[in-house]
Amino acid sequence: MAVRFTIIGGGPAGVQAATHAARLGAEVTMIERDIVGGAAQLLDCIPSKAMIATGGLMSASRRAAVMGLHPIEATLDFDAVRTRIHDIEAGLTISATELLASQGVRLLNGTGTMKGPHEVVAEVEGEMIEVEADAVLVSTGSRPRVPDWAEVDGERVLTTRQAYPPPELPSHLVVIGSGVTGVEFVHMFTSFGSQVTLVVSRQQVLPQKDPEVAAVLEDNFLQRGVKLLKGARAQGITRDGDEVVVACDDGRSARGSHVLLAIGSIPNTEALGLDAAGVTVDQGGYVPINQHCQSNVPHIYAAGDVSGRLPLASVAFMQGRKVAEHVMGLHTRQHRHLDYDKAASAIFTEPEIADVGLAEADAFAIGRKIRVTKVPFAVNARALIDGDPRGFVKIVSDPATGVVLGGSIVGQGASELISVLALAVTANLKVTDIVESLLVHPALAEALADAAE
Ligand SMILES: Cc1cc2nc3c(=O)[nH]c(=O)nc-3n(C[C@H](O)[C@H](O)[C@H](O)COP(=O)(O)OP(=O)(O)OC[C@H]3O[C@@H](n4cnc5c(N)ncnc54)[C@H](O)[C@@H]3O)c2cc1C
Repeated sequence: MAVRFTIIGGGPAGVQAATHAARLGAEVTMIERDIVGGAAQLLDCIPSKAMIATGGLMSASRRAAVMGLHPIEATLDFDAVRTRIHDIEAGLTISATELLASQGVRLLNGTGTMKGPHEVVAEVEGEMIEVEADAVLVSTGSRPRVPDWAEVDGERVLTTRQAYPPPELPSHLVVIGSGVTGVEFVHMFTSFGSQVTLVVSRQQVLPQKDPEVAAVLEDNFLQRGVKLLKGARAQGITRDGDEVVVACDDGRSARGSHVLLAIGSIPNTEALGLDAAGVTVDQGGYVPINQHCQSNVPHIYAAGDVSGRLPLASVAFMQGRKVAEHVMGLHTRQHRHLDYDKAASAIFTEPEIADVGLAEADAFAIGRKIRVTKVPFAVNARALIDGDPRGFVKIVSDPATGVVLGGSIVGQGASELISVLALAVTANLKVTDIVESLLVHPALAEALADAAE
């Protein structure tokens, strides 16, 4: 008899687990209360990147003179942006739904809860449908964290999910939070022409990143006129007519037309009946998992944002795939564990920032000997042709073996170029493998070969 595999939540983790397990022979049921593709598609990655793409074209148009063009004045049409985002999402949802159908996945459009270790109930339009499962995946994602000192009104005080786009273009946006999400929104709205103040709780934007990388972004923000309020923790928001005031713990404040909260997320695990199934969650509500994404109940898995690991759609996809293989008993053969330290990530700012594997600062912190090589895009023919030679490629390798351990790329196309280093890090390739690849000329990727030299 086929393994009965039930998935609650159809985001990247759920969809990947469903299609892969079905391909491997499982009888899969997916319960999704909203759209297939998940919050990633509807509310987070896809709409934010679509807005950034529009903003990117606007800022490129401002640099038209660099390319020998007369200046172009692009004006923003928020309705058209909204329609475009909707069309992209609809297209992706249709293809994901068709993919599930083609693999024979049973899709229940409703809310899933656990009634026991092997019993899941889907509430579909008021009807309770009981599903017996041999294995269950909890992949219900997360939602923006709203602190108790902030009252979100969806009008002037917004979470990221209310900004695709907001009701009107903010004349002055105060962004609270300078992690990846916060800086992407700063980038997005400055591209649209808004004035932006960024409340940075530490002394560096992107506090988790290589200071050299963060410095390039800070420079770009300063050139765009962004006001950085460093070392300040927001602790209150008040409306003052058409303005909003953010009060900080050191007495300073930031005033703008709108405020955007970008201070992390919380997992969607509270109303899932996990206790009825015996699944424990940690203090933050995340489901602790082992290397196979199993919870404390071995046949109940957690993947994606609920697992408390790297909150990235790309990681969620891969966790979903690994779960499917484990459910189908493939983990004993040719199964590579997911190494979160080797996950590539990107920040879609201008310039783009991407990294993978071991960072220079982390190597120093653990006393590991490394070789660091760096090449600026200013010497790359393609970057000069494209009129954007900002940034650099940095490669971290093992001085004894030449194996690539990690790297950072700052510059146009970094989110694509990092794939080369991600492959090198995953496959334990050496710097010479990159140097000796016959690449296209002129190409940005040549900077990787130069940095690997
Ligand atoms: C602004 C922003 C931008 C981002 N950009 C990127 C990016 O560029 N690249 C990247 O890799 N990551 C990005 N991320 C992170 C990424 O969105 C998440 O890591 C990803 O969505 C996690 O996927 P998931 O499968 O855990 O769940 P989600 O995508 O959150 O999907 C979970 C699904 O579960 C459903 N669900 C919840 N509860 C139930 C229930 N009880 N019953 C049925 N269904 C339920 C929800 O409706 C939802 O569809 C971004 C995040 C944010 C906030």
